[in-house]
Amino acid sequence: MRMALLAIAAMVAGEAAKPGEPPYHLIPGAVPLDKGPDGNSVVLDAPDGLIVVDTGRHPEHSKAVLDYAKRRGRPIAAIVNTHWHLDHTTGNWDVRRSYPHVAIYATNALEGALATFLKRSREQTDAALADPRTSPAQRDQLIRGREVIDHPERIRPDHVVERSGQMTIAGRELDVHVTRFAATEGDVWLFDRKNRVAIVGDLVVDIVPFMDTACPDGWLKALAEIERVPFDTLIPGHGPAMGRSEFIHWKKAFTDFVACGRSTADKEECIAGWDTGAARFIDEAHRGYVRSAADYYITTRLRSSADEQQTYCKPLRA
Ligand SMILES: [Zn+2]
Repeated sequence: MRMALLAIAAMVAGEAAKPGEPPYHLIPGAVPLDKGPDGNSVVLDAPDGLIVVDTGRHPEHSKAVLDYAKRRGRPIAAIVNTHWHLDHTTGNWDVRRSYPHVAIYATNALEGALATFLKRSREQTDAALADPRTSPAQRDQLIRGREVIDHPERIRPDHVVERSGQMTIAGRELDVHVTRFAATEGDVWLFDRKNRVAIVGDLVVDIVPFMDTACPDGWLKALAEIERVPFDTLIPGHGPAMGRSEFIHWKKAFTDFVACGRSTADKEECIAGWDTGAARFIDEAHRGYVRSAADYYITTRLRSSADEQQTYCKPLRA
């Protein structure tokens, strides 16, 4: 009788995680060369439903998230956004339409971004849409991005995370870490103590750190904080899960890249340094992209004027 009840409970709960399977479900974000990336989504089971960490940018990605929830037969009870970048938050709107009661947890860093970075990208969007060279895939992305910038309430958190600590999200306890001025003005990363899994958003991006809104010193501090946590598995914002030794390797490549970018060394030397230091994380298809991104970040974030370098090390204001 007890067995039968358990079987019924399992049917009601949908497809249960099988023994030996990882204690999370990763929906990998694509990094296509012809349009913007999607961040990884990580799905955790909680008493009240599923917790989705980051929701991607493109509709195909959020569809994969929603399809997974349907397959599992469980509602999405909460979203945690590791940061406001649109490749991690645009899908909030799709999830919210399917699950109107979903709770969204994030820092309030989106507000400063709306007044500055996103305001500028909103202005650039119309210009790009008027340009006949903009591809259809890029157009779709620009229009979707413009919609959430014009209607930020679609993606905005209704649970603002202010500080680090243990939190109960959808009935599940998680260690929530808030890092100020790292990849963005306010990044969130999670540590699942029981399973020793860290979910760190774009504080780790396998092929190249996305430094568009970065404060490199805050970022280095955040990586040191992550290292202090006893994780066995780390899920980056983009790319496959890493073990501890891979993370240490990536952190060294990042530290060396920042130091080289800030030195008087030839820029080519710093790009080659990243290419070699992070070689195990870079596939052949992305090599050219990675080199030009590294070049761009040295110029804009590491070798610009002292003022410019500090842009993202203080609150963003209009
Ligand atoms: Zn990202």
